[in-house]
Amino acid sequence: LFDKTLGQHILKNPLVVNGIVEKALLKPTDTVLEVGPGTGNVTVKILEKAKKTIVVEMDPRLAAELSKRVQGTPEQRKLEIIVGDFLKVDLPYFDVCISNTPYQISSPLVFKLLQHRPLWRCAVLMFQREFALRLVAKPGDELYCRLSANVQLLAKVEHIMKVGKNNFRPPPQVESSVVRIEPRYPPPPVDFDEWDGLLRILFVRKNKTVAANFKVTSVMEMLEHNYKTYCSLNGRDVPMDFDVKKAVMDVIDASEMGEQRPAKMDNDDFLK
Ligand code: SAM
Repeated sequence: LFDKTLGQHILKNPLVVNGIVEKALLKPTDTVLEVGPGTGNVTVKILEKAKKTIVVEMDPRLAAELSKRVQGTPEQRKLEIIVGDFLKVDLPYFDVCISNTPYQISSPLVFKLLQHRPLWRCAVLMFQREFALRLVAKPGDELYCRLSANVQLLAKVEHIMKVGKNNFRPPPQVESSVVRIEPRYPPPPVDFDEWDGLLRILFVRKNKTVAANFKVTSVMEMLEHNYKTYCSLNGRDVPMDFDVKKAVMDVIDASEMGEQRPAKMDNDDFLK
C-alpha cells in the first residue's frame, strides 16, 4: 500500500528512531520541523521532547493517519500538519529539523534547509548511504564532489550512524545513513549562485587541473556569452579585441591555482 514514487519506507526499529531523536539534542522549548512523517513513528518520539512539532507530508492518506494517531492524546495540540510538497511549501520558523527523508528529494531538501532564514540549530537527517558519504567527503576522498564542497561551505556535517535496509518496511534497495548538519553561523559572505557556478565548471573533471577545466570550449563559450550579457546590462562596451581565453587565463594565473586539481582542493582554495 506504500507509494514507492514517494519513497515511502517506514522506519520500524525503535532503537533507530530513538537514536535519531536523541542525536538532535532537543530542548523542551524547541520547535521541530519534520519532513515526511509517514505514519508518525519518529513524530511521536519528537512530540514527547519538543514544545511544538510541525510536519510536512505530501501524501494526504498518511497525513490523515498521523492525525488520527495523536487524536485525543495530550500531544495533539503540539502537532501541526502541513499537507504538501516540502519543496514547494513556505517553511515556518523551526529550531531543529528531523527527517527520514524521501531519498528522491535529498539534494534540494538539504539546500532548501540551508537557505532558510532565520538559520536553525541543527538537522538530523536519514539519507541513502552514498549520498550521506558524499555530504561528509573531504578533499582527496573518492566521493568528494560538488555536493560535498557546497554543503560544507554552508554547514558542518557529521556522519552519525549506519542504518541497514531491514530497519524499514518495505525495505529500500539501498543502505542508509544518518547525518547531523549544523549551519555555519554567521553564513559565509559568498554569493552562493556564483560559487556554485564555479564548482560546476571545476567538478566536471575533478581530477583535471583547474586550467584544463576552464579551457574546455563549451566553458569558454559560456563565459564569453555571460561576459557580453554582463557588459550590455551594465552599459559597457566589449573591447574590439576581446579574447575570452586570455582574460580567463589571466585571472587563473593571478590566482596561482591553475595547476591544482579540484579533487584535492578545499573550500579555502576555491574561494581563492
Ligand atoms: N518518517 C517516516 C518513518 O520514518 O517511518 C516515513 C519516511 S518515508 C522514507 C518518506 C516520507 O516522505 C513518506 O511519508 C512520503 O509520503 C513523504 N514524502 C515524499 N515526498 C515528499 C515531499 N516532496 N514532501 C513532503 N513529504 C514527502
